[in-house]
Amino acid sequence: MKLLLWDIDGTLLYSGGVAGEAMRAAMSRVYGRPSSNDRREYAGKTDQQIILETFADVSHDELKSKLDDFAQAYMAELTVRRDEMAQRGRVLPGVPTALAHFQHQPDIHQSVLTGNMMAVAELKLQLTNLIGYVDMQTGAYGSDHHARVELPRFALARAAQRGLHINGSQLVIIGDTPNDIACGKAHGARTVAVATGPFSVADLAAHHPDAVLADLADLDAVKAAIG
Ligand SMILES: [Mg+2]
Repeated sequence: MKLLLWDIDGTLLYSGGVAGEAMRAAMSRVYGRPSSNDRREYAGKTDQQIILETFADVSHDELKSKLDDFAQAYMAELTVRRDEMAQRGRVLPGVPTALAHFQHQPDIHQSVLTGNMMAVAELKLQLTNLIGYVDMQTGAYGSDHHARVELPRFALARAAQRGLHINGSQLVIIGDTPNDIACGKAHGARTVAVATGPFSVADLAAHHPDAVLADLADLDAVKAAIG
């Protein structure tokens, strides 16, 4: 048995910049100002981590006390932009074919590991018609912890609750940033990097993932990379 955990942004889909706009609007509403960071600086980070880094001059306790308000504001801003995200967002090459393939393998279970809060992850996957391919209940989300490296243990605990006892060596982490690779390596997972986000094949290869792909368009290459 293997547990595949797919990153969302830059790996399965691109939200067209709409999610970033919604996040900045929510930051302004709840914390008084937006982040000036660009997409590359957001990449591979959890929503909570982005908040902590953006407002580095504010105490963690104060920031965390407003996280629920932020989550609500972010979802509200995303919901307002729902049609725009459906229009501007896109599923990355080969993704539905790859997800459909692995969904039907008897020895494979697949979910997501993402810096997105769970509700945000759900909305993005719904708008791109990908939600049916993954078991959201065994995933890990930015709402679980601010550090991405901590997220695999949430997915493993949720899998165990559902009778799937998986160890690190049965885990495959697929993502588009060095943070995804580091997160997988910390748990002994197989790591697959895909250069459909802000990092090139060469950028990603420098972090020594088990496999690196330009995109997910070639199913045979994806199957070989997953191992
Ligand atoms: Mg990503």
